[in-house]
Amino acid sequence: MQPVKTVKKEPVKVREMASSLRSKTFEEVVFGYNESEALAEAARCLQCKNPVCTEGCPVGIDIKSFISCITNKDYKSAYFKIREKNDFPSICGRVCPAEYQCRKTCVFTKKNEPFASQNAINVHFLERFIGDYGMNNGCFIPVKRDPWLSKFKVAVVGSGPAGVCFAGELARAGVKVVVFESLHKTGGVLRYGIPPFRLPRNILDFEIDYLKTLGVELVPNMIIGKSKTIRGLKEEGYAGIFLGLGAGCPSFLGIPGENLCNVYSANEFLTRVNLMSAYKFPEFHTPVNIGKHMIVIGGGNTAMDAARSALRLQKMAGIPADTTVFYRRTEIEMPARRLEIEHAKEEGVKFKFLVQPVAFSGDDKGLVKKLKCLECKLGEPDSSGRRRPVSIEESEFESDCDIAIIATGLKANQVLISATQELKTDKYGDVIVNKETMETSIDGVYAGGDIVGGEGTVIEAMGMAKRASKAMVERLKKEE
Ligand code: FAD
Ligand code: SF4
Repeated sequence: MQPVKTVKKEPVKVREMASSLRSKTFEEVVFGYNESEALAEAARCLQCKNPVCTEGCPVGIDIKSFISCITNKDYKSAYFKIREKNDFPSICGRVCPAEYQCRKTCVFTKKNEPFASQNAINVHFLERFIGDYGMNNGCFIPVKRDPWLSKFKVAVVGSGPAGVCFAGELARAGVKVVVFESLHKTGGVLRYGIPPFRLPRNILDFEIDYLKTLGVELVPNMIIGKSKTIRGLKEEGYAGIFLGLGAGCPSFLGIPGENLCNVYSANEFLTRVNLMSAYKFPEFHTPVNIGKHMIVIGGGNTAMDAARSALRLQKMAGIPADTTVFYRRTEIEMPARRLEIEHAKEEGVKFKFLVQPVAFSGDDKGLVKKLKCLECKLGEPDSSGRRRPVSIEESEFESDCDIAIIATGLKANQVLISATQELKTDKYGDVIVNKETMETSIDGVYAGGDIVGGEGTVIEAMGMAKRASKAMVERLKKEE
């Protein structure tokens, strides 16, 4: 029997930067809980006999126990409790879509609510508080190096959350690890996709620097599938290989005018802003084009990140802010985190719902100038369970658009896959694995993260990497 769902106290609101200041900076905008706020929020947890919050966590964190440690002010134990399942509490506490996960299954959320109730325990903010405590107080997981494993070296392809988590697990077990990354900087989407106003780079740098202290070698600017192959890595003596390639290839709309200048994929736009530091121009010599009428197409986290970045760039350049998100369903169906949608609105991003882009048109210089759309209504649910948008005949309208950013999905990059015939993939181009061990069709080659099952979340990527690391360590032990 679950306890009666009586809300003893109001949820503790998280401190944030004022929206007027927020929209002009790439500094972190959510400040998180301080100690007294964390204690007050933890005290709201009912310590349920059947803690259903854990069922909602993709990696099964013992949420009830870590919250109980917080109420006892035993923050170190809370940190180690989370670390049993999650290697990056400071990161996940900032980016996890908790309203669809642990907070949605928390007893304070009613069964038919589309996402977590306002009253659900703010597990993510508590996790962030503890993650930051651990980071600032030197709470490191003990390294248990198995001397037998030190003769093995393994290769990790990709340095996103999946690759970094896998590398850390193997290095702690005593294996020599080399991480190959095609970009010039490590971190994957955490570096090039998610803007610093959501995930400050010192948090990510901490995790990467920690890997170095474990002896992990990081090799940037190395495309596996081009400069080296999987077969080549095996010949170089790598006893195992982990593929954390992500889903870095953007999907486009396939409509006329999409190849006009200033029509970006969200990946390119965000990479220019985040990885190439376009927001620090002219300090960094890599600007991105900014327009008077910027349109972002899509409804996920990528769309919110692109829109909030675009609006910031307009404001920083002194251009009257006009950034609009075009989405073909309604707000409730948007897959983005609710906090990001709220923040986008508060900062001044406009939204046009139930619209289907049909064509871009440009001027005689080949620059995009207009976006033509049809209005939509919602039809029957599709395979995702969300109601399908149906375009309405003769509802065409045009909007001014001098920068368009397409954020309608990502798929697997095929560079390594097409160079590796023996690697089996599904119809979407994602790598097929044994779901328990994460081993691919190639003996000794494992995979995890977005390259398995498509665009997911940071915690899911990390969970898969942890499963793969366990299986690889067992395999190496057997070989020994
Ligand atoms: P990635 O993070 O994509 O990393 C893969 C790495 O592999 C990249 O660095 C890539 O350069 C490298 N690589 C690829 N091919 C090769 C090769 N052949 N050789 C060498 N290196 C290679 N998730 C959340 O949980 N919360 C959020 O708020 C959130 N927001 C997001 C915002 C954006 C803009 C995007 C794009 C995604 C977001 N996600 C979010 C999803 C989340 O970031 C991903 O699920 C996660 O990063 C996947 O991790 P990964 O390690 O599998 O791949
Ligand atoms: Fe119960 Fe919610 Fe606390 Fe989990 S977080 S133990 S579901 S009150």
